[in-house]
Amino acid sequence: MKYLQHGNLATFTIIGGGRTTLGAGQDVGRSCVLLRMGGKHIMLDCGMHMGYNDDRRFPDFSYIAPYHPSTNYTSMIDCVIISHFHLDHCGALPFFTECLGYDGPIYMTYPTRKIAPILLEDFRKIMITPDSFFTEADIKNCMKKVIPVDVNQAIQVDPQLTIRAYYAGHVLGAAMFHIQVTVPVTNSVSCPSASFTFHPFNTPRLPHPSLTCVYTGDYNTTPDRHLGPAQIDRCRPDVLVTETTYATYTRDSKRTREQAFLEACHQTVAQGGKVLIPVFALGRAQELCILVDGYWERMGRELQKVPVYFSAGLTEKANEYYKLFLQWTNESLRESFVERNPFDFKHIRPFTHMTQADAPTPMVLFATPGMLHAGTSLNIFLKWCSNPLNAVILPGYCVPGTVGARVLAGERIIPLDRWTNVEVRCKVYNLSFSAHADAKGIMSLISACEPKNVVLIHGEKSKMAMLKERIVKEKGIPCFDPGNGTTVTIEVARDFVARVDRELI
Ligand SMILES: [Zn+2]
Repeated sequence: MKYLQHGNLATFTIIGGGRTTLGAGQDVGRSCVLLRMGGKHIMLDCGMHMGYNDDRRFPDFSYIAPYHPSTNYTSMIDCVIISHFHLDHCGALPFFTECLGYDGPIYMTYPTRKIAPILLEDFRKIMITPDSFFTEADIKNCMKKVIPVDVNQAIQVDPQLTIRAYYAGHVLGAAMFHIQVTVPVTNSVSCPSASFTFHPFNTPRLPHPSLTCVYTGDYNTTPDRHLGPAQIDRCRPDVLVTETTYATYTRDSKRTREQAFLEACHQTVAQGGKVLIPVFALGRAQELCILVDGYWERMGRELQKVPVYFSAGLTEKANEYYKLFLQWTNESLRESFVERNPFDFKHIRPFTHMTQADAPTPMVLFATPGMLHAGTSLNIFLKWCSNPLNAVILPGYCVPGTVGARVLAGERIIPLDRWTNVEVRCKVYNLSFSAHADAKGIMSLISACEPKNVVLIHGEKSKMAMLKERIVKEKGIPCFDPGNGTTVTIEVARDFVARVDRELI
């Protein structure tokens, strides 16, 4: 006999949905979702908002429980899952563990565990108000609590809760997570016409129904120069929670963007100018270094006279991690590694001293950080931006308020502080190399895993609504697009076989 058991609920509370006020395509926000499913409470990501310096930088944990020194988050949350090392997904984790006292299990992939603390420490150092932030020791203590996972490895969090990571593309070590909670079979099952009681001897032999959810974090369904595409099997989860950064956007071809990028570099140096490419240490930096190194190789000696540098420190370290976690990169990169290490760039050398930037000859420089808000990239920008022969190419998103955002907005006079303005006379290019799934990618992930419900997060409100309509219309799947601080409840009907004594029927 087969009955439907109703009443199994999966609820999602969006603690920090992130991008709703900032628009799509933006690498900021505070991803943090509380999933309640089959009696379990799972925190999906614990991100920080990089555009704020006050309380708003962290998710509003009062949605779990009101702030109180005695609040015991460990007893309220069964586990925390971190999808990848971007700070809008893991930046609030040390605050949650060391300042709010969460002491339960935290899962992330091996590369994420290795790289996240470096980015956290780097960001902590450049914060304007470091006192009100977590400390270096907090980051270290927090990371000690992390349990690393491999892709496709099933992890039994407790007897009812199992998680499994899928490859997500996007950045090194990024993962989507499949979460399964087995639900104890109740002794009475309601069905439309009657209610039955199980014989106690039969109950243990009944298959335990389970509730399942896939949480994507950020993902990319198209391979790039160093990572493979996101991969998932037909796991038919009850709920798919997907990011929607590029919800209604289908990007122009990657080749076009790459060509525009290389042309901008080549033209500038051919005319005697210098090219500054502000990047974050991991992700696009490696992608663009591979691109430029290959181009310099193909173009021959004339172009090879022009030096290409990347700023020392984080990026060098990052390249080390790519070597260390080579199995997380794409196939062609792994194959080329047999001949030579693809991160030992032939034409790119370390930028070791600021005086190198003063050379009167053309050059290309990759420098961190990516938003021109501090450090090497900002210092070099100030040196070069007044010369119309030079160019700055911004390959990623910049948080409002940063010099990078002002440059992208086309401002030509940029105030640095109350007394200093800087005049921008160099060329400015905005070529987005963000690695998020576009509308086509999101639809293909839905086709691949065949979810029963879809929850959209991490996107602009109007665009999420459009995608929601498309999913309902084209796929016939119920779809939800909750805003920040709201809870969506999804009732999951569950088929299972029940044995009932004949006398009872
Ligand atoms: Zn990301």
